Amino acid sequence: MKGKRTSASDVLPGEVPESGDAGRVIVVGAGAGGMMAAGRAAERGATVLLIEKTDGPGKKLLISGKGRCNLTNARELEGFISMFGPNGRFLHGAFHRWFREELLAFLGRYGVETKVERGGRIFPASDDAADVVKALRRYLADHGVELRTGVRVTGIAVRDGRVEGIRTDGGVLPARAVVLATGGATWPATGSAGDGYRMAASLGHTVTKLRPALVPLVVAEIERAKAMQGVSLRNVRMTAFRLPAEQIDPSLTPAKDYGRGIDGKKRRGPLIESRLGEMLFTHFGIGGPITLLMSLSIVDALAEGPVSVAIDLKPALTAEELRTRLQRDFDRFGKRGFRSLLAGLLPHKMTEPFLEMTCIPPERPGHQIDAGERERLAALLKSLRFNIKGPLPLSSAIVTAGGVSLKEVDPRTMASRLVPGLFFCGEVLDLDADTGGYNLQAAFSTGTAAGEAAAAFARDSAEKP
Ligand SMILES: Cc1cc2nc3c(=O)[nH]c(=O)nc-3n(C[C@H](O)[C@H](O)[C@H](O)COP(=O)(O)OP(=O)(O)OC[C@H]3O[C@@H](n4cnc5c(N)ncnc54)[C@H](O)[C@@H]3O)c2cc1C
Repeated sequence: MKGKRTSASDVLPGEVPESGDAGRVIVVGAGAGGMMAAGRAAERGATVLLIEKTDGPGKKLLISGKGRCNLTNARELEGFISMFGPNGRFLHGAFHRWFREELLAFLGRYGVETKVERGGRIFPASDDAADVVKALRRYLADHGVELRTGVRVTGIAVRDGRVEGIRTDGGVLPARAVVLATGGATWPATGSAGDGYRMAASLGHTVTKLRPALVPLVVAEIERAKAMQGVSLRNVRMTAFRLPAEQIDPSLTPAKDYGRGIDGKKRRGPLIESRLGEMLFTHFGIGGPITLLMSLSIVDALAEGPVSVAIDLKPALTAEELRTRLQRDFDRFGKRGFRSLLAGLLPHKMTEPFLEMTCIPPERPGHQIDAGERERLAALLKSLRFNIKGPLPLSSAIVTAGGVSLKEVDPRTMASRLVPGLFFCGEVLDLDADTGGYNLQAAFSTGTAAGEAAAAFARDSAEKP
């Protein structure tokens, strides 16, 4: 097996004294979860080999939070867990043992101070994700974890129903316990390309349907979106419906946010989700924070039928207030042409599409715009609609929804319920949350739990061979 060896204690397969290495823990994947699992297992006394297929650890961590790494969130535990939807319940065990306070204390020990920003998002005070990776690397080194990069694990070796090591192109590396920390299937250039799902499935684990989450969306009205490409809108309300755009009833738009992680009763009917915030038009459709947050429920609803979104560009005004305001402005600036009046209502790049959609002549003076035309404009400003064609591919999503079924994993130890000696952590599990630092905390906490349990398993099974 080739691969860069970064520890003096490192040896190649074949050179390995079988008995010694057979007692070790191998962690597959040096991302957030894998590094934490490896460090923790070593801290608990195990001999640990951490294998990473790219040329260095923490590639995705380095790009997380636009290079600033949104580590976790200040939200209280129940609210935190609600950000993962129903599967969040699985995290109670891991979070009760090792949660945000422990993560921040751990980072503090390695010199990473943190700060809390808007929405409770917690970042390194330096705004540099590289500091987090450096801290994790020091943790590994302090506890003698052997890190081998540039080695792709191709499978998990099992004999008599229990783990005996991992497979690489160079052969089998023995281990008493293996932690699968291969991440999801998004941004494959960072190394996470879905390998772990295949390995888990080949051992009989159920892998629930993989879907892109936190992903921009492609609209059917692509030319319209393209015309507004680059326009970023703040304080707009986007609402998604299980309906084609022309069937949306604007009265169904809720006044408050509705969706994952938000308190309130689940509603029946066509409403999927609604968020107030920032969105963006792109050359293929829509992106930006609220689109990403709503994307998974839209992706899931699309599997069952047509989905559309309505954007309320003036959410601070009721439809009636907007009509009154338009009438007042059009009277006050009665000599101005419609194009110029629109420029006072919308970003420049949205003027042409609105001229086209309202069918009001661009030069028509304000005082000649009749009630019907004003009504058409008001309706569009309150409900600019797009039919959703689908998400961008999984590779461009921020996280993967779906993964190793949680029913087959012990939530206290992250141990496989099917294969003794196999443990999971991080995004390879069927866990995903909204943006805000939740996904990384889940990777760190499940990594800690898996590392501890894998070390205990390796020790116990070495005592009774
Ligand atoms: C652009 C972007 C920004 C993000 N920003 C944030 C953020 O600010 N806050 C947040 O909470 N979440 C964020 N996320 C999500 C978060 O980064 C992931 O959920 C998290 O990194 C998952 O951790 P993990 O350890 O499970 O997997 P990863 O961090 O993906 O690590 C998996 C590792 O396994 C390795 N690997 C895979 N297959 C093999 C194999 N066969 N053999 C050996 N090694 C293998 C990979 O190379 C990789 O290093 C972001 C994601 C993206 C894409």
